[in-house]
Amino acid sequence: MSRTKKPSIPALQAALLDWFDRHRRVMPWRAAKGRRPNPYHVWLSEIMLQQTTVVTVGPYFVKFTGLWPTVGDLAAAKLDDVLTAWAGLGYYARARNLHKCAQAVVGQYGGKFPADEASLLGLPGIGPYTAAAIISIAFDKPAVAVDGNVERVVSRFDGIEEPLPLSKPAIRAGAAKLADGNPRPGDFTQAMMELGATVCTPRKPRCGLCPWQNSCAARKAGNAEELPHKLPKKAKPAKTGKVYWIVNTKGQVMIQKRAEKGLYGGMYQLPTTAWREAAEKPDGHPAFVSGHGLAPIGPSVRHSFTHFDLSLEIWQGQAASAQLPVGGKWVSISALDRYALPTLMQKVARLMIGGG
Ligand code: SF4
Repeated sequence: MSRTKKPSIPALQAALLDWFDRHRRVMPWRAAKGRRPNPYHVWLSEIMLQQTTVVTVGPYFVKFTGLWPTVGDLAAAKLDDVLTAWAGLGYYARARNLHKCAQAVVGQYGGKFPADEASLLGLPGIGPYTAAAIISIAFDKPAVAVDGNVERVVSRFDGIEEPLPLSKPAIRAGAAKLADGNPRPGDFTQAMMELGATVCTPRKPRCGLCPWQNSCAARKAGNAEELPHKLPKKAKPAKTGKVYWIVNTKGQVMIQKRAEKGLYGGMYQLPTTAWREAAEKPDGHPAFVSGHGLAPIGPSVRHSFTHFDLSLEIWQGQAASAQLPVGGKWVSISALDRYALPTLMQKVARLMIGGG
Protein backbone atom coordinates (compact mmCIF):
# COMPACT_ATOMS: atom_id res chain seq x y z
CA MET A 1 0.00 0.00 0.00
CA SER A 2 1.43 3.43 -0.91
CA ARG A 3 2.02 6.03 1.76
CA THR A 4 0.25 9.28 0.98
CA LYS A 5 -0.40 12.17 3.30
CA LYS A 6 -4.12 12.76 3.22
CA PRO A 7 -6.21 15.64 4.48
CA SER A 8 -8.58 15.04 7.39
CA ILE A 9 -11.57 12.78 6.83
CA PRO A 10 -14.07 15.67 7.35
CA ALA A 11 -12.21 17.69 4.68
CA LEU A 12 -12.37 14.77 2.22
CA GLN A 13 -16.08 14.28 2.98
CA ALA A 14 -16.81 17.96 2.46
CA ALA A 15 -14.94 17.96 -0.87
CA LEU A 16 -16.84 14.91 -2.12
CA LEU A 17 -20.26 16.21 -1.01
CA ASP A 18 -19.54 19.58 -2.59
CA TRP A 19 -18.59 17.81 -5.84
CA PHE A 20 -21.79 15.72 -5.65
CA ASP A 21 -23.94 18.80 -5.12
CA ARG A 22 -22.59 20.23 -8.35
CA HIS A 23 -22.46 17.08 -10.48
CA ARG A 24 -25.20 14.73 -9.32
CA ARG A 25 -27.02 13.18 -12.26
CA VAL A 26 -30.79 13.24 -12.48
CA MET A 27 -32.20 9.71 -12.26
CA PRO A 28 -35.85 8.63 -12.14
CA TRP A 29 -35.42 7.13 -8.65
CA ARG A 30 -33.27 9.86 -7.19
CA ALA A 31 -34.94 12.52 -5.03
CA ALA A 32 -34.31 16.14 -5.98
CA LYS A 33 -31.69 17.92 -3.91
CA GLY A 34 -32.98 18.52 -0.37
CA ARG A 35 -35.99 16.16 -0.82
CA ARG A 36 -36.43 12.90 1.11
CA PRO A 37 -36.34 9.88 -1.21
CA ASN A 38 -39.18 7.37 -1.37
CA PRO A 39 -37.89 4.11 0.25
CA TYR A 40 -39.90 2.06 -2.27
CA HIS A 41 -38.10 3.80 -5.13
CA VAL A 42 -34.70 3.37 -3.48
CA TRP A 43 -35.27 -0.34 -2.87
CA LEU A 44 -36.70 -0.98 -6.36
CA SER A 45 -33.82 0.82 -8.09
CA GLU A 46 -31.16 -0.92 -5.98
CA ILE A 47 -32.57 -4.35 -6.81
CA MET A 48 -32.80 -3.46 -10.51
CA LEU A 49 -29.29 -2.00 -10.59
CA GLN A 50 -27.63 -5.20 -9.35
CA GLN A 51 -25.64 -6.50 -12.35
CA THR A 52 -27.30 -3.94 -14.64
CA THR A 53 -26.45 -0.43 -15.83
CA VAL A 54 -28.24 2.82 -14.99
CA VAL A 55 -29.12 3.31 -18.68
CA THR A 56 -30.80 -0.11 -18.93
CA VAL A 57 -32.64 0.23 -15.63
CA GLY A 58 -34.21 3.66 -16.34
CA PRO A 59 -37.13 2.50 -18.55
CA TYR A 60 -37.81 -0.55 -16.35
CA PHE A 61 -38.01 1.62 -13.24
CA VAL A 62 -40.44 3.98 -14.95
CA LYS A 63 -42.52 1.01 -16.18
CA PHE A 64 -42.65 -0.62 -12.71
CA THR A 65 -43.57 2.55 -10.84
CA GLY A 66 -46.21 3.29 -13.51
CA LEU A 67 -47.77 -0.16 -13.16
CA TRP A 68 -47.30 -0.38 -9.38
CA PRO A 69 -46.94 3.07 -7.79
CA THR A 70 -46.56 1.73 -4.24
CA VAL A 71 -45.03 -1.32 -2.62
CA GLY A 72 -48.60 -2.39 -1.77
CA ASP A 73 -49.55 -2.33 -5.45
CA LEU A 74 -46.51 -4.44 -6.31
CA ALA A 75 -47.33 -6.91 -3.51
CA ALA A 76 -50.86 -7.31 -4.90
CA ALA A 77 -49.64 -7.88 -8.49
CA LYS A 78 -49.58 -11.33 -10.08
CA LEU A 79 -46.10 -12.87 -10.18
CA ASP A 80 -46.58 -13.56 -13.91
CA ASP A 81 -47.15 -9.85 -14.56
CA VAL A 82 -44.05 -8.92 -12.55
CA LEU A 83 -41.93 -11.44 -14.48
CA THR A 84 -43.30 -10.16 -17.78
CA ALA A 85 -42.48 -6.55 -16.86
CA TRP A 86 -39.00 -7.69 -15.75
CA ALA A 87 -38.28 -9.70 -18.93
CA GLY A 88 -34.99 -8.56 -20.46
CA LEU A 89 -33.41 -7.34 -17.20
CA GLY A 90 -31.88 -10.77 -16.48
CA TYR A 91 -31.16 -12.55 -13.20
CA TYR A 92 -34.82 -13.43 -12.82
CA ALA A 93 -34.50 -14.67 -9.25
CA ARG A 94 -34.35 -10.95 -8.44
CA ALA A 95 -37.85 -10.43 -9.84
CA ARG A 96 -39.29 -13.31 -7.84
CA ASN A 97 -37.60 -12.03 -4.68
CA LEU A 98 -38.77 -8.51 -5.47
CA HIS A 99 -42.36 -9.71 -5.45
CA LYS A 100 -41.85 -11.77 -2.26
CA CYS A 101 -40.14 -8.83 -0.57
CA ALA A 102 -43.01 -6.46 -1.45
CA GLN A 103 -45.44 -8.96 0.10
CA ALA A 104 -43.27 -9.24 3.24
CA VAL A 105 -43.07 -5.45 3.60
CA VAL A 106 -46.86 -5.29 3.43
CA GLY A 107 -47.46 -8.38 5.60
CA GLN A 108 -44.84 -7.72 8.28
CA TYR A 109 -44.39 -3.95 8.24
CA GLY A 110 -47.73 -2.54 7.10
CA GLY A 111 -46.34 -1.42 3.74
CA LYS A 112 -43.48 0.66 5.20
CA PHE A 113 -39.89 -0.41 4.70
CA PRO A 114 -38.16 -0.94 8.07
CA ALA A 115 -35.42 1.58 8.81
CA ASP A 116 -32.90 -0.73 10.46
CA GLU A 117 -30.35 -2.98 8.80
CA ALA A 118 -31.24 -6.16 10.74
CA SER A 119 -34.92 -6.05 9.70
CA LEU A 120 -34.03 -5.25 6.09
CA LEU A 121 -31.61 -8.19 5.98
CA GLY A 122 -34.50 -10.48 6.97
CA LEU A 123 -36.41 -9.57 3.79
CA PRO A 124 -36.17 -11.65 0.57
CA GLY A 125 -33.52 -10.51 -1.91
CA ILE A 126 -31.92 -7.95 0.43
CA GLY A 127 -28.26 -8.63 1.20
CA PRO A 128 -25.74 -6.52 3.13
CA TYR A 129 -25.06 -4.15 0.23
CA THR A 130 -28.73 -3.43 -0.51
CA ALA A 131 -29.60 -3.06 3.19
CA ALA A 132 -26.80 -0.52 3.65
CA ALA A 133 -27.83 1.36 0.50
CA ILE A 134 -31.47 1.58 1.67
CA ILE A 135 -30.51 2.61 5.22
CA SER A 136 -28.28 5.41 4.05
CA ILE A 137 -30.06 6.63 0.90
CA ALA A 138 -33.70 6.19 1.95
CA PHE A 139 -33.36 6.98 5.66
CA ASP A 140 -30.19 9.10 5.73
CA LYS A 141 -28.66 6.93 8.46
CA PRO A 142 -24.97 5.94 8.59
CA ALA A 143 -24.24 2.70 6.69
CA VAL A 144 -21.42 1.65 4.39
CA ALA A 145 -22.69 0.39 1.04
CA VAL A 146 -19.83 -1.05 -1.04
CA ASP A 147 -20.74 -1.75 -4.66
CA GLY A 148 -18.36 -2.21 -7.61
CA ASN A 149 -17.98 1.54 -8.05
CA VAL A 150 -17.06 2.07 -4.41
CA GLU A 151 -14.64 -0.86 -4.53
CA ARG A 152 -12.81 0.80 -7.40
CA VAL A 153 -12.69 4.27 -5.81
CA VAL A 154 -11.42 3.00 -2.45
CA SER A 155 -8.89 0.58 -4.00
CA ARG A 156 -7.39 3.45 -5.94
CA PHE A 157 -7.67 6.11 -3.26
CA ASP A 158 -5.96 3.87 -0.68
CA GLY A 159 -3.62 2.29 -3.24
CA ILE A 160 -4.71 -1.26 -2.36
CA GLU A 161 -2.57 -3.67 -4.40
CA GLU A 162 -4.08 -6.89 -3.06
CA PRO A 163 -6.43 -8.38 -5.71
CA LEU A 164 -10.18 -8.70 -5.41
CA PRO A 165 -11.89 -10.55 -3.82
CA LEU A 166 -9.10 -10.93 -1.21
CA SER A 167 -9.02 -7.15 -0.75
CA LYS A 168 -12.71 -6.87 0.18
CA PRO A 169 -12.07 -6.50 3.96
CA ALA A 170 -9.44 -3.78 3.35
CA ILE A 171 -11.77 -1.99 0.92
CA ARG A 172 -14.65 -2.18 3.36
CA ALA A 173 -12.48 -0.79 6.15
CA GLY A 174 -11.29 2.00 3.84
CA ALA A 175 -14.86 2.83 2.80
CA ALA A 176 -16.01 2.86 6.46
CA LYS A 177 -13.18 5.19 7.42
CA LEU A 178 -13.98 7.60 4.59
CA ALA A 179 -17.70 7.63 5.49
CA ASP A 180 -17.23 7.83 9.26
CA GLY A 181 -19.20 10.63 10.89
CA ASN A 182 -20.17 12.35 7.64
CA PRO A 183 -23.08 14.75 8.04
CA ARG A 184 -25.16 13.51 5.04
CA PRO A 185 -25.06 9.68 4.92
CA GLY A 186 -27.51 9.33 2.04
CA ASP A 187 -25.76 11.82 -0.19
CA PHE A 188 -22.35 10.47 0.78
CA THR A 189 -23.28 6.93 -0.30
CA GLN A 190 -24.62 8.22 -3.60
CA ALA A 191 -21.60 10.49 -4.07
CA MET A 192 -19.16 7.58 -3.72
CA MET A 193 -21.12 5.57 -6.28
CA GLU A 194 -21.43 8.56 -8.58
CA LEU A 195 -17.70 9.28 -8.40
CA GLY A 196 -16.96 5.69 -9.40
CA ALA A 197 -19.55 5.72 -12.20
CA THR A 198 -18.63 9.04 -13.80
CA VAL A 199 -15.05 10.03 -12.84
CA CYS A 200 -13.17 7.10 -11.29
CA THR A 201 -14.22 4.87 -14.19
CA PRO A 202 -12.76 1.41 -14.90
CA ARG A 203 -10.86 2.68 -17.93
CA LYS A 204 -9.32 6.13 -18.32
CA PRO A 205 -10.30 7.59 -14.93
CA ARG A 206 -10.70 11.34 -15.18
CA CYS A 207 -8.49 12.17 -12.20
CA GLY A 208 -8.23 15.83 -13.24
CA LEU A 209 -11.93 16.22 -12.35
CA CYS A 210 -11.78 14.29 -9.09
CA PRO A 211 -12.33 16.08 -5.77
CA TRP A 212 -9.81 13.72 -4.17
CA GLN A 213 -7.11 14.01 -6.82
CA ASN A 214 -4.52 15.56 -4.47
CA SER A 215 -4.83 12.80 -1.88
CA CYS A 216 -5.23 9.71 -4.04
CA ALA A 217 -2.52 7.05 -3.70
CA ALA A 218 -3.09 5.51 -7.12
CA ARG A 219 -3.00 8.87 -8.86
CA LYS A 220 0.33 9.63 -7.19
CA ALA A 221 1.68 6.20 -8.08
CA GLY A 222 0.40 6.54 -11.66
CA ASN A 223 -1.36 3.16 -11.57
CA ALA A 224 -5.02 4.20 -11.20
CA GLU A 225 -6.18 2.42 -14.32
CA GLU A 226 -4.59 -0.86 -13.18
CA LEU A 227 -6.51 -0.95 -9.89
CA PRO A 228 -8.32 -2.80 -8.51
CA HIS A 229 -6.34 -5.93 -9.37
CA LYS A 230 -8.47 -9.03 -9.70
CA LEU A 231 -7.67 -12.70 -9.30
CA PRO A 232 -8.02 -14.46 -12.66
CA LYS A 233 -11.48 -15.84 -13.27
CA LYS A 234 -11.99 -19.56 -13.71
CA ALA A 235 -12.99 -20.55 -17.24
CA LYS A 236 -16.74 -21.19 -17.42
CA PRO A 237 -18.00 -24.55 -18.66
CA ALA A 238 -19.69 -24.53 -22.07
CA LYS A 239 -23.13 -26.12 -22.47
CA THR A 240 -25.13 -26.89 -25.58
CA GLY A 241 -28.70 -27.85 -26.40
CA LYS A 242 -31.50 -27.44 -28.92
CA VAL A 243 -34.32 -24.90 -28.93
CA TYR A 244 -37.49 -25.23 -31.00
CA TRP A 245 -39.49 -22.70 -32.99
CA ILE A 246 -42.63 -24.67 -33.78
CA VAL A 247 -45.47 -22.88 -35.55
CA ASN A 248 -49.00 -24.30 -36.05
CA THR A 249 -51.42 -23.78 -38.92
CA LYS A 250 -52.89 -20.70 -37.20
CA GLY A 251 -49.47 -19.04 -37.21
CA GLN A 252 -49.09 -19.52 -33.46
CA VAL A 253 -45.81 -20.46 -31.85
CA MET A 254 -45.29 -23.06 -29.10
CA ILE A 255 -44.07 -21.75 -25.77
CA GLN A 256 -43.73 -23.46 -22.43
CA LYS A 257 -43.80 -22.29 -18.83
CA ARG A 258 -40.74 -23.38 -16.86
CA ALA A 259 -40.97 -24.96 -13.42
CA GLU A 260 -41.27 -22.41 -10.58
CA LYS A 261 -37.93 -23.38 -9.07
CA GLY A 262 -34.47 -23.11 -10.65
CA LEU A 263 -33.05 -21.06 -13.51
CA TYR A 264 -35.71 -18.85 -15.15
CA GLY A 265 -38.24 -20.29 -12.68
CA GLY A 266 -41.85 -19.46 -13.59
CA MET A 267 -40.86 -17.78 -16.88
CA TYR A 268 -41.82 -18.80 -20.40
CA GLN A 269 -39.44 -20.27 -22.95
CA LEU A 270 -39.41 -21.72 -26.41
CA PRO A 271 -39.19 -25.47 -25.78
CA THR A 272 -35.63 -26.75 -25.40
CA THR A 273 -33.77 -29.95 -24.66
CA ALA A 274 -31.73 -30.13 -21.45
CA TRP A 275 -28.50 -28.12 -21.65
CA ARG A 276 -25.51 -30.43 -21.42
CA GLU A 277 -21.75 -30.03 -21.08
CA ALA A 278 -19.53 -31.28 -23.94
CA ALA A 279 -18.60 -34.47 -22.09
CA GLU A 280 -22.28 -35.46 -21.76
CA LYS A 281 -24.35 -37.20 -24.43
CA PRO A 282 -26.55 -34.61 -26.18
CA ASP A 283 -30.33 -35.17 -26.08
CA GLY A 284 -32.32 -36.16 -29.13
CA HIS A 285 -35.50 -34.27 -30.09
CA PRO A 286 -38.22 -34.58 -27.42
CA ALA A 287 -41.35 -36.56 -28.32
CA PHE A 288 -43.67 -33.52 -28.48
CA VAL A 289 -41.76 -32.07 -31.47
CA SER A 290 -41.35 -35.31 -33.40
CA GLY A 291 -43.12 -35.45 -36.76
CA HIS A 292 -43.06 -31.65 -37.15
CA GLY A 293 -40.65 -31.67 -40.13
CA LEU A 294 -37.80 -30.28 -38.07
CA ALA A 295 -34.96 -28.49 -39.82
CA PRO A 296 -31.94 -26.80 -38.23
CA ILE A 297 -31.57 -23.04 -38.60
CA GLY A 298 -28.08 -21.58 -38.32
CA PRO A 299 -26.34 -19.92 -36.61
CA SER A 300 -26.72 -21.08 -33.01
CA VAL A 301 -27.78 -18.56 -30.40
CA ARG A 302 -25.26 -17.92 -27.64
CA HIS A 303 -25.79 -16.64 -24.13
CA SER A 304 -23.49 -16.20 -21.17
CA PHE A 305 -24.77 -17.07 -17.70
CA THR A 306 -22.91 -16.45 -14.45
CA HIS A 307 -21.73 -20.05 -14.20
CA PHE A 308 -21.69 -21.29 -17.79
CA ASP A 309 -21.79 -20.29 -21.46
CA LEU A 310 -24.61 -21.68 -23.56
CA SER A 311 -24.96 -22.32 -27.26
CA LEU A 312 -28.35 -23.47 -28.54
CA GLU A 313 -29.00 -24.90 -32.01
CA ILE A 314 -32.29 -23.57 -33.33
CA TRP A 315 -34.67 -26.04 -34.95
CA GLN A 316 -37.73 -24.91 -36.87
CA GLY A 317 -40.85 -27.01 -37.50
CA GLN A 318 -44.45 -26.85 -38.69
CA ALA A 319 -46.74 -28.43 -36.09
CA ALA A 320 -48.32 -31.62 -37.40
CA SER A 321 -50.48 -32.03 -34.29
CA ALA A 322 -51.68 -29.92 -31.40
CA GLN A 323 -49.59 -31.91 -28.91
CA LEU A 324 -47.99 -29.69 -26.28
CA PRO A 325 -45.34 -30.34 -23.63
CA VAL A 326 -46.06 -29.91 -19.91
CA GLY A 327 -46.77 -26.20 -19.31
CA GLY A 328 -47.00 -25.61 -23.07
CA LYS A 329 -49.34 -23.30 -24.97
CA TRP A 330 -49.78 -21.81 -28.43
CA VAL A 331 -49.56 -18.02 -28.68
CA SER A 332 -49.71 -15.73 -31.65
CA ILE A 333 -46.26 -14.49 -32.60
CA SER A 334 -47.33 -10.87 -32.24
CA ALA A 335 -48.39 -11.56 -28.62
CA LEU A 336 -45.04 -13.08 -27.57
CA ASP A 337 -43.98 -9.89 -25.82
CA ARG A 338 -46.87 -10.31 -23.36
CA TYR A 339 -45.09 -13.33 -21.90
CA ALA A 340 -42.09 -13.26 -19.59
CA LEU A 341 -39.46 -14.54 -22.00
CA PRO A 342 -35.88 -14.29 -20.73
CA THR A 343 -33.33 -12.47 -22.89
CA LEU A 344 -31.95 -15.73 -24.29
CA MET A 345 -35.40 -16.69 -25.63
CA GLN A 346 -36.06 -13.19 -26.88
CA LYS A 347 -32.85 -13.50 -28.92
CA VAL A 348 -34.15 -16.72 -30.53
CA ALA A 349 -37.57 -15.16 -31.21
CA ARG A 350 -35.99 -12.05 -32.76
CA LEU A 351 -33.83 -14.20 -34.97
CA MET A 352 -36.80 -16.24 -36.13
CA ILE A 353 -39.22 -13.36 -36.59
CA GLY A 354 -36.54 -11.24 -38.28
CA GLY A 355 -35.61 -14.20 -40.46
CA GLY A 356 -39.26 -14.71 -41.48
S1 SF4 B 1 -7.83 10.68 -8.32
FE1 SF4 B 1 -8.36 9.35 -10.00
S2 SF4 B 1 -7.96 7.27 -9.29
FE2 SF4 B 1 -8.01 8.61 -7.49
S3 SF4 B 1 -10.10 8.44 -6.73
FE3 SF4 B 1 -10.00 10.23 -8.09
S4 SF4 B 1 -10.57 9.49 -10.14
FE4 SF4 B 1 -10.08 7.71 -8.84
